[in-house]
Amino acid sequence: MFLGCHVSNKTPDYLYGSINEALSYGANACMIYTGAPNNTKRKDLSALQIEKAHKAMQANHFDLERMIVHAPYIINLANTKKPELAQFGQDFLASELKRVAAIGAKVLVLHPGSHVQMGLDVGIQSIVTHLNVVLDADTSKVCIALETMAGKGSEIGSSLEELKQIYDGVRHKDRVGVCLDTCHLNDAGYDVADFDLLLDEFDKEVGLSYLKCIHINDSKNPKGARKDRHENIGFGYIGFDTLINIIYNKRIEDIPKILETPWVGEYPPYKEEIEMIKNKEFDPELKEKLENI
Ligand code: FE
Ligand code: FE
Ligand code: ZN
Repeated sequence: MFLGCHVSNKTPDYLYGSINEALSYGANACMIYTGAPNNTKRKDLSALQIEKAHKAMQANHFDLERMIVHAPYIINLANTKKPELAQFGQDFLASELKRVAAIGAKVLVLHPGSHVQMGLDVGIQSIVTHLNVVLDADTSKVCIALETMAGKGSEIGSSLEELKQIYDGVRHKDRVGVCLDTCHLNDAGYDVADFDLLLDEFDKEVGLSYLKCIHINDSKNPKGARKDRHENIGFGYIGFDTLINIIYNKRIEDIPKILETPWVGEYPPYKEEIEMIKNKEFDPELKEKLENI
């Protein structure tokens, strides 16, 4: 099982710090942003301590395939209301692929985008066009994993059919994949309790081999709420047993699973959540305990 969580990538140790943080949680996978998730300011690659991070990974049998990178939220390739913003997203995505390649990671998770009330088909066409330009010019082997979305506002990608439409339009099919997010699937109206059925549908629509990453989150809202508010494992509407069944599903054994659950007060809950998952035992007092640290 490859299980980890979102870890920071910040001064002074950057990627070397990210790996040490993941290891301190007992994780053997992780996800980073190349800088702040909500802006596009980025440090020079030379500052990121890449070599030191790789050495630490090797020493701990932490494969680069299990270090996932997430693109910043502000990339919106579907913005046809302000095409200059979609163009900005395209340029940033191109530079982000270069950074991911330099880091040595293989998968970049990307939110497909929002059509900003311009219509779903126009938005999807815009995503396809920009992805094709980026991938035509890019020489790395980094795979862009389109994330399933909760469907709030005009978000594209809240159904497997929409992801399939993007996938169908992209020329470099070897360079696109999918990242499933359990909270987003639930909020979009999928029954994640029957995960095998969902995987069947995914396999039929896109193909299981295109699954690159799974975000493991509980949800603060019931199925179909279209909200996207993550909850700690076992404390939301999805529930502990369902999440355990997903994490331990044999068909997705090799896929990195990443927790993006909220901090409890000032405290990251990942070490404790990973422990609960490994022991398959829910601690209903976990949040209380973390709040009092
Ligand atoms: Fe995401
Ligand atoms: Fe996610
Ligand atoms: Zn989310």
